[in-house]
Amino acid sequence: MIPVTKPYLPDREKLNKYIDGIYERQWFTNNGQLVQELTRRLEEYLGVENLLLVANGTLALQIAYRVLGVSGIESDLKPEAVTTPFTFVATASSLKWDGVVPVFTDIDPDTWCLDPKNIEAAITPNTRAIVPVHVFGNACDIDAINAIAHKHDLKVIYDASHAFGVEYKGESLLNYGDAATLSFHATKLFHTAEGGAIAFKRKEDLECAKKMINFGITGPESIELLGINAKMNELQAAVGLCVLDDIYDLDKQRSRVWQKYLSELTGLVDFQIWNPDCNENYAYAPLLFEKESKLIDVEMALKEKNITSRRYFYPSLDMLKYLGDNQCCKVSRDISRRILCVPIYADLEENIQSKITDIIK
Ligand SMILES: *Cc1c(COP(=O)(O)O)cnc(C)c1O
Repeated sequence: MIPVTKPYLPDREKLNKYIDGIYERQWFTNNGQLVQELTRRLEEYLGVENLLLVANGTLALQIAYRVLGVSGIESDLKPEAVTTPFTFVATASSLKWDGVVPVFTDIDPDTWCLDPKNIEAAITPNTRAIVPVHVFGNACDIDAINAIAHKHDLKVIYDASHAFGVEYKGESLLNYGDAATLSFHATKLFHTAEGGAIAFKRKEDLECAKKMINFGITGPESIELLGINAKMNELQAAVGLCVLDDIYDLDKQRSRVWQKYLSELTGLVDFQIWNPDCNENYAYAPLLFEKESKLIDVEMALKEKNITSRRYFYPSLDMLKYLGDNQCCKVSRDISRRILCVPIYADLEENIQSKITDIIK
């Protein structure tokens, strides 16, 4: 079976060396040496300052909501956050889980990110934040979102789960917003099996989050604030340190795969319009078909050849009743019905890729 993505398996001997170290130190978690080393290396690689590693990308979002005062758990009114329906469910479900009403507004038909034109109309006295997603790694309209947030005194938390290594105007995309979160799930571009991170704009927010991810404990006999367990452990960090060594090569290989899709399929399907101020990271290979029926034909034909494709992100989240009684986001519903993600990973064989493009043709 050809998967839609494959978790990168780092060199086993290298991983073993890190695990030897864990055994010598007999230290598995609680801000261990490898977590500290990965934090430093990722800060340097990504070009960010206040990075906190956590157990997964969903907790990264939840910790960011709490630290920035967005969460509704300890408040009488029901805070709201304006967000996109075209994303993985965790962006919105994490809000709801934390007592925040996700208010979906529609996306841009070309970039597939939240359309800033729709945001202001959705702001109410209860709105506390905007939670946009750099979907498939494509940067949102940062300047417009920033201006709206400033005008209405709202926090901005970017779900940057897909945007590992993306720069905007030569600077890390993660440096925009009050916080930007990453997921290091095994299927993501860079991974730690399970894991995630938050890049905070302000140092004091990082310091607060450090306490929060460890139950609010600040010393042997002091518990300072409400917290939870969201710590990354040493085994996760060991995987991450190994994967990070190879990320440059992986990126080059994925780029080669993507260029082939582009050259073979231009004119037959549509592609996401990329922010001209950003580099691409080839995290996904989303193809936009003219009609859903064509997409379903392709999906079935691929399946017959044992090739997996995925309808990321379907359904559009404004259709999920448990997330609230939201207005219909027409563009998102239309786009989400017509997008199929096809396989992209570093060692995808050329002949398999040709099978995929032949089916689409
Ligand atoms: C993967 C993903 C998440 C969740 O991350 P986990 O590490 O799986 O918890 C959140 N948002 C988006 C957009 C994602 O793709």
